[in-house]
Amino acid sequence: MYVDLIKKLFVPRYNLSIKSIKKKFNLSEDSIKRRVCWKCGTKLNFWDYCSEFKDNKLEKMIKLWQNDYIEFYCCKCFKIKKSEYLKKNLY
Ligand SMILES: [Zn+2]
Repeated sequence: MYVDLIKKLFVPRYNLSIKSIKKKFNLSEDSIKRRVCWKCGTKLNFWDYCSEFKDNKLEKMIKLWQNDYIEFYCCKCFKIKKSEYLKKNLY
């Protein structure tokens, strides 16, 4: 019951569908890099990540996701990191 409700309420913010993103950026489930949070090890979801960006930023952000030299934080660790940064630099 809740799953149906969530499906109805869930509207991805990106206009491109998963299928068209895969096609446009030449991605497959196998070529999408598997990522975990650099700090806590939580699995990160590529499609959740994509939904955070507008279409005009998507290409750049997908390149970052696929980059071997960059690590990501999960939302929770990023928020902690951001508040630490703000405390250090603003107060
Ligand atoms: Zn984390």
